Amino acid sequence: MAANPLQKYKAERDSSRALQMAEGGAPREKARAFVIQKHWATRLHYDFRLELEGAMKSWAVPKGPSYDPKDKRMAVHVEDHPMSYNTFEGQIPEGQYGAGKVIVWDEGTWRPMGDPLQGYQDGNLKFELHGRKLRGHWALIKIKSRHGKDNAWLLIKERDGLERPAAEFSVIDEFPDSVATLPSPEGAKTK
Ligand code: MN
Repeated sequence: MAANPLQKYKAERDSSRALQMAEGGAPREKARAFVIQKHWATRLHYDFRLELEGAMKSWAVPKGPSYDPKDKRMAVHVEDHPMSYNTFEGQIPEGQYGAGKVIVWDEGTWRPMGDPLQGYQDGNLKFELHGRKLRGHWALIKIKSRHGKDNAWLLIKERDGLERPAAEFSVIDEFPDSVATLPSPEGAKTK
């Protein structure tokens, strides 16, 4: 029995479209989620999370991000979080792991520069952020260690014209609050 011609047409059209996109350079990937949760646990830190392979790869950044490329911020790689946690704000009760207040400090999407899985595995992840507070090009670079500990990375702003000297601008001090306090992003539907 012959295959459904419509299916065949669709398959051919899809593969030629895929080819066009591949040749055209910019693959139309779905937007990947990006979130930073500010977390007053035993110590204040910023949980920096990037969607990769259906989970949120996570780094705890004690000092938070900086727009100054000279500020190489320690980012401790921690366990993956489920995407459903991205919108969580509230109080983690006493006695539970990470007890303390959590707010969504930034949210948006990210776009990897190059193959994100390779970058993640190599400890050299470069990307563009489309957040409410963080924009432009950033890098997460794993620190090579000979002494067992294998979870230390650095979060660094890359030079792209959006960088700002720390003496002039501190994003965590200028914008300390939840994204819920910010005006709606352009084009967003009112909830
Ligand atoms: Mn945390």
